[in-house]
Amino acid sequence: MNPPSDSALGASMSEVLFSAQDIATKVVEMGAELADHYRGKRPLVVGILNGCFPFIADLVRAMDIELEVDFMSVSSYGAGTKSTGVVRFIKDLNQPIQGRHVLLVEDIIDTGLTLRYLTEALQTRKPESIEVCALLDKQAGRTQNIEVRWRGFMCPDAFVVGYGLDYAGIYRNLPYVGVLDPSVYRGK
Ligand code: 5GP
Repeated sequence: MNPPSDSALGASMSEVLFSAQDIATKVVEMGAELADHYRGKRPLVVGILNGCFPFIADLVRAMDIELEVDFMSVSSYGAGTKSTGVVRFIKDLNQPIQGRHVLLVEDIIDTGLTLRYLTEALQTRKPESIEVCALLDKQAGRTQNIEVRWRGFMCPDAFVVGYGLDYAGIYRNLPYVGVLDPSVYRGK
């Protein structure tokens, strides 16, 4: 799919992978499934900042159950398009999770390093359960053996932006997910 020709941000995109409508339909489906799974368990839904913000906002509104929301922030990328392999811890949860059902919400999983680091750190706090829900799963990049229980879409092996995902801080506000034209970052 081509990006809309009258869009300023769209001019930097080579392709739309998942349209706003594709995403909306999928998120409602995932929310219903998650609500069934967590009904009566009052889960703590944990968004991994910054990229999760549109996804978690749409997802929790599609879950018609009692739940709480919190956020964590780690960084493994800096401003580039390839993982540095270094995970930096920036913001912790605001509450203990002992005995809680924790659902980690990620925008995209690539190597799996971020999630492995996070789940290992959170397991030491003795939650009742930890599961992972990701909008996009880029399996070609995986180096870690992690379980992603709920995923929206399989993502091709390309650097994608939009619906929360950035390049150097930009493009998070695109309503769809697309492939950034390599000319934008070539030589950087
Ligand atoms: P991982 O630790 O699994 O390699 O990477 C997870 C994080 O890397 C994601 O939360 C996201 O911030 C970033 N990331 C991985 N692939 C992409 C991509 O294609 N585009 C963007 N914008 N970020 C990505």
